[in-house]
Amino acid sequence: MTTLIGVYGAAGCGRGIMPLLRIQVAQAELVFIDDGQALGQINGHKIVTWQDFLDIPAEEKAVSIAIAASKTRQLLAEKCATAEIPLIEARAASVVQMDDVTIKDGACLSPFVTLTSNISIGRCFHANLYSYVEHDCVIGDFVTFAPGAKVNGNVSIGDHAYIGSGAIVRQGITIGAGAVVGMGAVVTRDVKPGVTVVGNPAKPLTKD
Ligand code: UDP
Repeated sequence: MTTLIGVYGAAGCGRGIMPLLRIQVAQAELVFIDDGQALGQINGHKIVTWQDFLDIPAEEKAVSIAIAASKTRQLLAEKCATAEIPLIEARAASVVQMDDVTIKDGACLSPFVTLTSNISIGRCFHANLYSYVEHDCVIGDFVTFAPGAKVNGNVSIGDHAYIGSGAIVRQGITIGAGAVVGMGAVVTRDVKPGVTVVGNPAKPLTKD
């Protein structure tokens, strides 16, 4: 059985996800798929176009969408669904997952991520290095956690929200869809959909 896995995106995110999949699916051929980068090789893997990926013969194919921009992830997830290519979850061996955690397809879980208990997570979740999700959180689709994002218990996070590097979200907070939590922010109040908050305590970003 020949299996071809494509890591969509050959930039920083993709180059952090490829080594995880290399361990997970040792028998597969692994390539990067990229629409914007020069074709060639990176870190021992070919960079191919989407059309090349579809044309390469293989009995089974799957894609990991390793791109931080959540709207791009959604568009590419739709492209994969149209082509009937399933999404594969990329998960570091060091990820800790406790009880009753449900995660929809296409997640990328980087090294040292922790998901504790009774958590629901939507499609194409990205949890970068050392980020965590505490108990009873409900996380929407295409949500992105930058490295070290810390989300405490009973937090609700809407689709396409972005939690910046090292940010801390207090227990029980609601973060609206498309909201952005800046790097290092300490979120002690709910964040409305589409709003960017920064600082400690986090406040909406205002333009001067
Ligand atoms: N990309 C792509 N198809 C798209 C959008 C992006 O192949 O529809 C690629 C893009 O060419 C780039 C990568 O995805 O190589 C995204 O890289 P970026 O610098 O945005 O950072 P990252 O998501 O890796 O942090």
